[in-house]
Amino acid sequence: MSTPSPERSDLRSLSRSEVDALVVRLGEKPYRARQIFRWLHQKGAASFEEMSDLPAALRARLAGETRLVTLERAEERRSSDGTIKWTWRTEDGKLVESVYMPEPGRKTLCVSTQAGCAVGCTFCMTGTMGLVRNLTSGEIVDQVARVNRRLLELGEGAPPRPLTNLVFMGMGEPLHNYASVKAALDVLLSEDGPNFSNRHVTVSTSGIVPEMRRFGEETDVKLAVSLNATTDEVRDVLMPLNRRWPLGVLLAACRDFPMKRGRRITFEYVMLGGVNDSDEDAERLSRLVRGIPAKVNLIPYNENPGLGYRAPASGRVEAFRDRLLAANVTAVVRRNRGADIAAACGQLAAEGGPGDPRRRPRGGIGPGGTGPLTDGRPTG
Ligand code: SF4
Repeated sequence: MSTPSPERSDLRSLSRSEVDALVVRLGEKPYRARQIFRWLHQKGAASFEEMSDLPAALRARLAGETRLVTLERAEERRSSDGTIKWTWRTEDGKLVESVYMPEPGRKTLCVSTQAGCAVGCTFCMTGTMGLVRNLTSGEIVDQVARVNRRLLELGEGAPPRPLTNLVFMGMGEPLHNYASVKAALDVLLSEDGPNFSNRHVTVSTSGIVPEMRRFGEETDVKLAVSLNATTDEVRDVLMPLNRRWPLGVLLAACRDFPMKRGRRITFEYVMLGGVNDSDEDAERLSRLVRGIPAKVNLIPYNENPGLGYRAPASGRVEAFRDRLLAANVTAVVRRNRGADIAAACGQLAAEGGPGDPRRRPRGGIGPGGTGPLTDGRPTG
């Protein structure tokens, strides 16, 4: 295979119609496009040589005309609760993370959409890194391909793909990388790709209001919104983007969201002791989400030594949930996963890498610090 060069497109980042066009341009029969697409996205081929049912001449031409960008596994850490966190090294040496969370009946992967994140939520380790760069669609879908392959090697699940669910809640704000996320979803849901069900894929946003409606119209996967506060005063501190799109504007966008095919919005609410976990917060939260087809995920903060925010006091999470339930709001307490390997909500920061902010103490609201989000993930 010839040496990759940045001028040639990454084959893994091409859409199905782009692969179709490439095959036509190479003078090949149209069915070769499906073969190539399946090698990339169902079998997770890491080299052209692996594509064994393609003629050698075609493989050589593909290698000459395109590149095949594959994430390198830099680290694998396993939690006592079955969670596995992988750190991937990109072609240009950036580090990003994915987290696997097995549960009875479902195997979920939390994928990253950016290296770092520009949103800067004060409870989130990724937010302390700033934005390094957007991931390409190929780098997003390759997290899924690498993990499916690895899980098969580990005997976790059966072919063709052990993973059943995807959450876009790893490093990054997905709607800040809209084009790549949309392209990745198209691949991940495609029949000749891994063929995930739209009901099993959730994309989370910190509340990028201008992109939410477009996302609702152009996709049919689920949307999660990181709420985390019930007043602008608190949310301004936890999530600085609230100053641009305050709660009233965000909730209006949620009311306006295209709720096709029985969709509902998941509101993620990380509970920070003494910050956003009072009875008054529960009452306000139930009023804020009233009238929106929604459920609320309550995520008790998992304390990080030296990073500030406290976990809620014992019994607080259940009392908060019960107040929501009494107000007819669907509410679920989410167990944090992988805390012992820094894979829990808000802990993803390419640990040990150049941007690892765990080396830098930081302050925040209340007791100050950083925290988690979503069922196991920081939410973007
Ligand atoms: S919680 Fe999400 S949006 Fe906020 S800084 Fe972390 S990764 Fe970015």
